[in-house]
Amino acid sequence: MELSPVTDLPEIRPGDDLADLIADRAGDDLADGDVLTVASTVVSKGEGRTADLTEYPISGRAQDLADTLAELAGEEKDPRFAQAVLEESTELLIDAPFLLTETRFGHICVNAGIDRSNVPEHDLLLLPERPSKSAARIRDGLAEHGYEDVAVIVTDTCGRPFRHGQRGVAIGWDGMPASRDWRGEQDRDGRELGVTVQSVVDELAAAANLVTGEGAGGTPAVVVSDWAFGDLAGSDELFRSVEDDLIRQALRGWEWE
Ligand code: GDP
Ligand code: MN
Ligand code: MN
Ligand code: MN
Repeated sequence: MELSPVTDLPEIRPGDDLADLIADRAGDDLADGDVLTVASTVVSKGEGRTADLTEYPISGRAQDLADTLAELAGEEKDPRFAQAVLEESTELLIDAPFLLTETRFGHICVNAGIDRSNVPEHDLLLLPERPSKSAARIRDGLAEHGYEDVAVIVTDTCGRPFRHGQRGVAIGWDGMPASRDWRGEQDRDGRELGVTVQSVVDELAAAANLVTGEGAGGTPAVVVSDWAFGDLAGSDELFRSVEDDLIRQALRGWEWE
């Protein structure tokens, strides 16, 4: 497997067509059957998902959240930011000492994934509204340039519970399944695997994020070549529903029988 950055992409502006910009630069590095990862930051910029704190009214709930966070942090917290997080979310899972929410498309992350870095001229960069739709648009755009079958993964950098450090995850994908289902396969002792569903879009996102970096590098798009999904069954389930998520149930204080 080989990972190569798409080089020389410009600062992305609202309305920019990422597929065009990438196709113009990828050349022979990109081929049918490859996977292209694109950082959500540039997808959002192209979709005009910037915002400014002044756009947000302050609801009572946002004020309360900001007050609590400010008290715990011992520094000012802008209630308009809490309002922005609430507006991007369908559920608040943790309200202190930070905001952990579920976004409209099912991804759970801190502050609804709203970014305050790499956003010139604006205060905030919201996540794409429907990242899998964004991935599909980029895939279709690449097909118009003759790249007939390129799977696309939209990534974001996220923290994770229980471990220090952040890493890339997939928040949207198109043209490939999200997971490889190993259930029913056998281990080396002939024992049948009962639970393992390998989240390949997350694993590819994490690998690509090594190339992307986190700072001023300017390499939001990465081509993954010489990699194949293989013969296993695929699944598109990535985000757990509450009924299927014991950690969320524990957070809600559900009692198990
Ligand atoms: P996130 O992980 O999606 O939140 O994105 P990051 O802020 O970590 O940025 C990922 C990569 O994209 C880094 O290499 C940034 O330097 C780069 N980047 C961010 N915005 C732009 C842009 O508008 N144009 C280009 N060429 N690179 C960008
Ligand atoms: Mn981000
Ligand atoms: Mn990042
Ligand atoms: Mn193992």
